Amino acid sequence: MQLDDLYRRVIMDHYKKPRNRGLFEDDAVTIDLNNPTCGDRISLQLKVEDGIVQEARFTGEGCSISMSSASMMTQAVKGKTFEEALEMADKFSAMVKGEEVTFEDEAEDIEALSGVSKFPARIKCATLAWNALRKGIES
Ligand code: ZN
Repeated sequence: MQLDDLYRRVIMDHYKKPRNRGLFEDDAVTIDLNNPTCGDRISLQLKVEDGIVQEARFTGEGCSISMSSASMMTQAVKGKTFEEALEMADKFSAMVKGEEVTFEDEAEDIEALSGVSKFPARIKCATLAWNALRKGIES
């Protein structure tokens, strides 16, 4: 199997079976963001405690890139400190700009979005969820 095919499968898997989709019933940090170029929108909720992202959930609509990215991000940042989560966001930005980076363990799926660097118009789709995360942590 070609790497491109593998990546496409991972993306479609997250798109069709999004992880952490839904919102918390109780109060959580909520960030709404959209990407007008493509029509993607996301509502991200974070549960934070002592500088750690305890849990992240999202709802929204959009293309497969934006939604799979949100699914992967909410999975990857769970249990991470703010600093670690922001480092991941930086790493993700570097990846979609074409830099070679690696993600470990449960965050490995994220690498499936590395191909986005070849499609500059889709970069905003891929970074939408990560920008929401950044905003949520900074607030
Ligand atoms: Zn999009």
